[in-house]
Amino acid sequence: MAPPAKRARSAQQTQAPSEGHSDSDGPDADYASAPKPVRRVRVRRGGLARLPEMPLDVVAEIMSYLEPLDLLHLARTSRHYRTFMLSRGSAFMWRAARENVDGFPPCPEDMSEPALANLLFCAFCHGCGRARCDKIYWDLKARYCNDCTANLGVIVRYDPHLAGFLRIDIPFPMSHLKPFMLLRVVNEKRMAYLHDVHDGVPPVGGEYYSVERADLDAFKEALKDMQPDERYAFVEKRAKDLQMARKALVPLIRWRLDMQEARKNEKSEILDQRYNEVTKRLTELGWGEELEKMNTCWLRKHPLVAQPRPLTDRVWQNMEEKIVNFMKERQQARLQGVGR
Ligand SMILES: [Zn+2]
Repeated sequence: MAPPAKRARSAQQTQAPSEGHSDSDGPDADYASAPKPVRRVRVRRGGLARLPEMPLDVVAEIMSYLEPLDLLHLARTSRHYRTFMLSRGSAFMWRAARENVDGFPPCPEDMSEPALANLLFCAFCHGCGRARCDKIYWDLKARYCNDCTANLGVIVRYDPHLAGFLRIDIPFPMSHLKPFMLLRVVNEKRMAYLHDVHDGVPPVGGEYYSVERADLDAFKEALKDMQPDERYAFVEKRAKDLQMARKALVPLIRWRLDMQEARKNEKSEILDQRYNEVTKRLTELGWGEELEKMNTCWLRKHPLVAQPRPLTDRVWQNMEEKIVNFMKERQQARLQGVGR
């Protein structure tokens, strides 16, 4: 992480947030125009709510310790903060915030820093802005909930050549490219090839996938009035551009998978701890022998046990009777030879 003083100096070249300051068109405009998710803004509850009253160099100093999600929340506290933080002059803050996150890869050239932060850290649908969703459509660089996804894609058979699929004359060998090499893919499963790019050729998988409807329409429209040689060059460029864009996303996809894996491990560790606490307390109550004889997966799956939260004395007091009754039921079932 760069020294905060360096960031503070850069900040002095930027403008203080004020109503009327407008520099948000440009690379950040896509983020600026994205629907604002409906959620409580975390920074309001803390000392950061007083940021607008502070001098800009102090603001920059504070921001150098924040992470991208903090900046997203801050940008949503007020209109003038939003404008200020999405201006080109504030890009350094987003870069600094990104560098504060362990192992976070650089921002791809065709994305703005706030758009990247929004994609990776804000779990709301980019279509309706309301539904929470974890699904990122990497070709589209967006998240969509199931409802919004429904109208997004066009189902395509996996095997056709481009010329056959589009019913447009395209010179060989471009005519033999597959649609996914030229069109943004919606179906996430088909994106598995991004994890292991070999010249843009995906491993052979299912028979169908889907491409973005709007992208397909624009592509067909662009090809319509072209001469064959123009079509060749157009298709060639598009294939190269899409392949480059996908390659640029690979570090981000890998980083996100690592994060998800780490979160999953953390969660299963907490689940194990809670289960071990429950069995320890049951053993103290004389259930040790039964725990050795029973199929413990029933206990692991019990809704009061399978919670990713540590077990406190108070929580145990509240659940003890129910768990003991459950143990009695399972013991009864075991003795009767049911559900072992
Ligand atoms: Zn949606």
